[in-house]
Amino acid sequence: MKASAFSYARATSVANALELLGAHGDRAKVLSGGQSLMPAMNLRLISPELIVDIGELAELRGIAVSDDILRIGALTRHVDLQRSPQIAAHAPLLTEAAAHVAHPAIRNRGTLGGSLAHADPASELPACMVALNATIIVRGPRDERRIAAVDFFKGIYETGLSPDELLIAVELPVGRKGSGHFFHEFARRHGDYAISGLAAQAILDGGLFTDLRLAFFAVGDRPVLARAAHGLIGVPITPALLSDRSAALGEELDPQEDQQASAAMRRHLAKVLMRRCVTALLGRPDLDAGGRS
Ligand SMILES: Cc1cc2nc3c(=O)[nH]c(=O)nc-3n(C[C@H](O)[C@H](O)[C@H](O)COP(=O)(O)OP(=O)(O)OC[C@H]3O[C@@H](n4cnc5c(N)ncnc54)[C@H](O)[C@@H]3O)c2cc1C
Repeated sequence: MKASAFSYARATSVANALELLGAHGDRAKVLSGGQSLMPAMNLRLISPELIVDIGELAELRGIAVSDDILRIGALTRHVDLQRSPQIAAHAPLLTEAAAHVAHPAIRNRGTLGGSLAHADPASELPACMVALNATIIVRGPRDERRIAAVDFFKGIYETGLSPDELLIAVELPVGRKGSGHFFHEFARRHGDYAISGLAAQAILDGGLFTDLRLAFFAVGDRPVLARAAHGLIGVPITPALLSDRSAALGEELDPQEDQQASAAMRRHLAKVLMRRCVTALLGRPDLDAGGRS
């Protein structure tokens, strides 16, 4: 199938892109890497009248660290996340997660901004943003908004972006002493969308968590920051406590059923991931004894 006829404009600046979006409202769509937009258009799931190509805007590129904040431009490609020494040094969770996003051909074109704006609940990068407590920076015709990642994702393919706004960059806090991360996903094949996944960021001090952000993906309509993890902060972790928190996680999640997995299987896998994550972050194999979930 081919896309419906559409007009095409290559934006010359962020201001020009915003002007075009403002003039055409929800009849226009932003084009970044095109790896989700073009398939959706070819399948005629969407038929925008105008495509605003932002791919040449140097203002939206770049990875920089200043004052313990890592800023990543919206047009940063998945392959750049994988290869950047700055990302590896300051947000290794992203380096690891990016390797699970699709396949090399898609990672060479797909962008961070595109992935976040697309908001597929099975995507790796939105969950990483929630785990890393990112701020998502969005510019509209009048002003710039800063939205906490946990509030940005609203549902399946739904975000806090308006049709006349552009996602510009994300900012992540870095340089926190004692940080650790964990990433794992269950997928049928490497590169497929996850059946159930977990991106986690923690701060550890003397064998205790002082912060623990567990962001599950593919188990709800958006990335889920687990409330059950709060009970693991600041206390010694025992197998009984972990079982209790794992049960609480099961109650908290509301996974969808599809051709890949039942809701019960997704919930079970999320509990397995939580146990493995805590075990790995604390270096406590005793917590995973018997693989109970
Ligand atoms: C076969 C295949 C397998 C894939 N597997 C995975 C996977 O396992 N995990 C995964 O996470 N993704 C996967 N993807 C999707 C891929 O990661 C896309 O690159 C990503 O979802 C969208 O990025 P993009 O730059 O290509 O965005 P585009 O396709 O250009 O845009 C996607 C959407 O975001 C909007 N948009 C883009 N940029 C902006 C911006 N800066 N501001 C406002 N709106 C914007 C567009 O208007 C559009 O609605 C897969 C894609 C394919 C084709």
